[in-house]
Amino acid sequence: MGAARGRERDGLPHHKRSVATAPLSLLTAALAFAGRAPALRLRSTHSILAKMSASNGGSAEKRSAESIDLGSTDEDEPETPSKAARTTAAAASMASSAAAAAAASSSTTTVTVPAGASTLRAVKVPPGWSVHGGSLLVKSYGALTSSTKIAAFDFDGCLARTPLGGNDPNAWSMQYKHVPSVLASLHASGHAIVIVTNESMDRLKKEEAIRNNILKKCGRLDGFAKACAPTPILCLCATAKDSYRKPETGAWSFFTSQCNGGVVPEVAKSFFVGDAAGRPGDHSDSDRVFAEQCKLPFHDEKEFFERMHKP
Ligand SMILES: [Mg+2]
Repeated sequence: MGAARGRERDGLPHHKRSVATAPLSLLTAALAFAGRAPALRLRSTHSILAKMSASNGGSAEKRSAESIDLGSTDEDEPETPSKAARTTAAAASMASSAAAAAAASSSTTTVTVPAGASTLRAVKVPPGWSVHGGSLLVKSYGALTSSTKIAAFDFDGCLARTPLGGNDPNAWSMQYKHVPSVLASLHASGHAIVIVTNESMDRLKKEEAIRNNILKKCGRLDGFAKACAPTPILCLCATAKDSYRKPETGAWSFFTSQCNGGVVPEVAKSFFVGDAAGRPGDHSDSDRVFAEQCKLPFHDEKEFFERMHKP
């Protein structure tokens, strides 16, 4: 009897056995099979359960006539190639994006500083200068190019020696005689040269005082850049106690988002140099904190121009 039942079961291919005659171990195997074929899992499992339910309430004749087509993939089969095609397309798209990003980061492009306002607190700014965000004075000298390497500097007391008082635009001198050659060599090695300087004018109320302060600061930066020509330089000057003023990072954000051709600077290959380093006798640590907040390596002016780049 058992042998006869065995022959009956063996007379059918495994994937065509009746639910009524399939032992529990076979159903377990079927479910495991469905589990190995994710595309078939839901449909096959549903089919098995539906047919088990029907067989429980149906006749023996009906049970013997029904079968579970465990191997059928008629309706699910098309998903495999289309999924493969989607995967291939996605991989191609990712490779294309990665190539474009690599090209963008490795190439240098000419940078044009976006147009800004021509007045600061109702005072017209000198030629070539523009005002962004209501208070950031910006000017570029020479042909700026984008770079992953940024050499950024404070101005007063770092690149240039300037008096505390007075409004003479010509009252400045190189902090070190070799500053222009250092900037030229940094440019030659692929660095973009950026000056980030504070010049608070908040305390000034009269238009004439504001104008004189603007002419002084812009004149000194113009004179410095001319002395360093043809090295391209970008100047960013914060004129109010706002987010552009160091140690706040607004000026750096403006530079990275609008003045570097979409290229993201590599902070590990970039740096900031300033004299407000928090040393004994320093008037402030704003340059050091600014660098820290921008994640830039920091050097004070003595370390950079006297030891790292000796005259
Ligand atoms: Mg300074």
